[in-house]
Amino acid sequence: MTLPDPLTSRAVLIGISEYTHLSPLPAVANNLQMLASLLQRPDLWGLPAAHCTVVHNPTSIDAMMDPLWQAREEARDTLLVYFAGHGLMHSVESDLYLTLVDSYRDRMYSAVAYDTVRNEIRASFARRKIVILDCCYSGLALGLLGPEDAAERVANGARINGTYLMTATAENKTATGGLDTYTAFTGELIHLIKEGIPEQPELLELDTIFHHARASLRDKGLPIPQKRESNLAAHITLVRNRAHKSQKQVTLKESYGPIEGIRVGAIFNNRRALHDAGVHRPLQAGICGTAERGGAESIVVSGGYKDDEDHGDVIIYTGHGGRDPNTGVQIKDQSSEDSGNAALIMSMMTGLPVRVIRGSGGNKRFSPPAGYSYDGLFTVADYWTKRSVNGPNVLQFRLEQIEGSPPEKATAHRLSRKLPPGRREEIAPGIYADRLLAAKIKQIYDYACQVCSVVLEVPGGLRFSTTVHIRGLEQPHLGPDNEANMLCLCPNHRDLFKYGAITIEDDFRVIDQTDGEPIGKLTLKHDIDRDHLRYHRQHHTLGHRRLTDSLD
Ligand SMILES: [Zn+2]
Repeated sequence: MTLPDPLTSRAVLIGISEYTHLSPLPAVANNLQMLASLLQRPDLWGLPAAHCTVVHNPTSIDAMMDPLWQAREEARDTLLVYFAGHGLMHSVESDLYLTLVDSYRDRMYSAVAYDTVRNEIRASFARRKIVILDCCYSGLALGLLGPEDAAERVANGARINGTYLMTATAENKTATGGLDTYTAFTGELIHLIKEGIPEQPELLELDTIFHHARASLRDKGLPIPQKRESNLAAHITLVRNRAHKSQKQVTLKESYGPIEGIRVGAIFNNRRALHDAGVHRPLQAGICGTAERGGAESIVVSGGYKDDEDHGDVIIYTGHGGRDPNTGVQIKDQSSEDSGNAALIMSMMTGLPVRVIRGSGGNKRFSPPAGYSYDGLFTVADYWTKRSVNGPNVLQFRLEQIEGSPPEKATAHRLSRKLPPGRREEIAPGIYADRLLAAKIKQIYDYACQVCSVVLEVPGGLRFSTTVHIRGLEQPHLGPDNEANMLCLCPNHRDLFKYGAITIEDDFRVIDQTDGEPIGKLTLKHDIDRDHLRYHRQHHTLGHRRLTDSLD
């Protein structure tokens, strides 16, 4: 069994989180964001972003149906259609309707008849079709039925021949106060896809995912989802099983940062010697490391690329690929999907340090006369594309030194600064933060913000986020540099948190200090010390007015 071919598959994720005349469903926005990012993850399915269309808050039937029409035209392997929002059921015919932003609960003509959706899906040539409906039904016909009957009726009404259909019919209650990150059913799907299911095969069938989601919802006393499938659709696999032992655990090996016993300025005769010392493992490639692991571990700067520039503590490093192997002339554009280049882009996002090794062929001022020198740790501060001196485009990275110094002064400099060992970055005079720890926290959360779940992505599927210390490390706070004092946040929420514009309660509700209202609940996958949260509340809100006044 194999996964659906991502190149000939299409997904359309439709969701309405804001309504003009119906109650809002803020969790739906998170559903869309997270599902899209999971389907696109190379270790789960790897659907290209262009094949995964998110339709958020459509206001017209065209806005909802055009992307669906296009996807059903293009899909050859698998077509996946997802809808989350309010559903309506006609009080007389029990026909299903999917709402738009401006739909009214009692005017069916203001919503999209499910039949319209069904007809498009039927018309698709896709070999496999999946429909997931996660609807809140706000009453009317459903109000007369028990929840089980209602769920049956919706599932029957939504069935499409040859299609795997899942429906969840939550009643539109806000017992949870609207603070859940995802809607109940989609939240289960997300959890199962993201974490995998132990003791299941390497590829997860839809049916397996469904049964686990149903069991979990039943245990929680939540409305039980329904499925309808035909023989054709019974064994569709959707994603790789992250709990399967074949899936490598995401772990940061200790191969980032300095190598014990190797001082800055150490000279190696050849690539084999670099390899044996663990300073730069590949014997040929200039970039060691992968995006999946957290970024580049080491690079060799040897003057092979005409566009390289070496300024000592700043290096403009040209990416990998596109050169004629014999002449060294750039004959093709470089790509951010090249594994070495993707690794360097990821280094910029994770902030992990990159060991820089200079070969004798580079800038005479900084390069060793022969062999290779290990010149310390750099961060990737920026990257861009530009036209190479030969014509085709190349990628370039700006590397900035974070430890050590140009090789001619290395020893004296290090002794005078007494830098602590490890992968530490000076974040304030005399204060060092462990980059490896920050990278680990980001990986725990898959780069999603603990407040809003937003994942920032760049082309190529790479993602990034930031971390913040709850109780600052610097004077006078002197918080610890450990996991229990850290949060993984998007840049917006990091800054809001730093300025005390949001705070976190002991029950992990996030409070907007501008109006005192809760805006959600913190996603939690690691232990946080509540004392630090309390410290943050005490020291960043009592003087809140003064603090904000003093900001630019
Ligand atoms: Zn955020």
